[in-house]
Amino acid sequence: MFCLDVEKIITLCMVVKEIKNLFHRELDTLYGREEVSHFFQLLIAHYLNLDRMVLALDPNITITKQEEQPLFEALQLLKQEYPIQYIIGYTHFYDLKFKVTPSVLIPRPETEELVRKIVEDVKEINRPLRILDIGTGSGCIAVSLAKNLPDAIVFALDISEEALKIAAENALNNEVRLNIIQESILELPDIAMMFDVIVSNPPYVRELEKDTIKNNVKLNEPHIALFVSDEDPLIFYKRILDFSEKNLKKGGLIYVEINQYLGKETRQLFESKFFLEIELQKDFLENYRIIKAVQP
Ligand code: GLN
Repeated sequence: MFCLDVEKIITLCMVVKEIKNLFHRELDTLYGREEVSHFFQLLIAHYLNLDRMVLALDPNITITKQEEQPLFEALQLLKQEYPIQYIIGYTHFYDLKFKVTPSVLIPRPETEELVRKIVEDVKEINRPLRILDIGTGSGCIAVSLAKNLPDAIVFALDISEEALKIAAENALNNEVRLNIIQESILELPDIAMMFDVIVSNPPYVRELEKDTIKNNVKLNEPHIALFVSDEDPLIFYKRILDFSEKNLKKGGLIYVEINQYLGKETRQLFESKFFLEIELQKDFLENYRIIKAVQP
């Protein structure tokens, strides 16, 4: 019965509303109805330039076979829990549009809170600040800071050439300048420059937490940006702090996103390195997520 139904839609019917119903039938159990509606909205806006209000007002809107093709392809990918952001190739972060591919992590709302905190803390300082984003990925942190702090000189460091290409593209599309550095923070890069602000959202999910991570993340997002060993989960923070001891100005600010289960341990690491005014902050889901500190 069900197959016949699908066949009928594919061969005869090109009413957008019918395709939407098919999305609900196939995906609601996996994602929930609301999220599926949201996916469909994003897809018709992207592929058909069609607004959901237009569809609501005229439920009989039809499309050609050629136009429906990407919607069916997207449906197959969503069934396999492939992230919608990689399907359409972009997402929004801090009111800006960012290109994303499987070479970069999809920007998260928690990370917007990190950016907001930095912007609020430093926006009144009226001299050009040098800001370094370590492990920039898509460049979401670096680009949003550059956009909202027009006098800042922003540097974006990553080990991945692919990621840095995306970050550079995102800087260009959002009309800001980024200074790109390809280095591994684990090797404590020798950079002859002092920064006013260092920020990082490094990999922090332990292997032992893999089972708690959703399939869409675990199967598709870059593991190099996500996972750390159970034996040394704070390795990136150790290197970032070693680097900051050398390259962050006296009184300079450091901001990191952290593993929610390792709030106290990460804080202790900052204390052991004698950073000042250490703040451990929760995100909107009440999980420990941000540490801010001042260079002594
Ligand atoms: N917050 C991300 C997640 O839950 C992880 C980001 C990171 O490792 N830096 O998937």
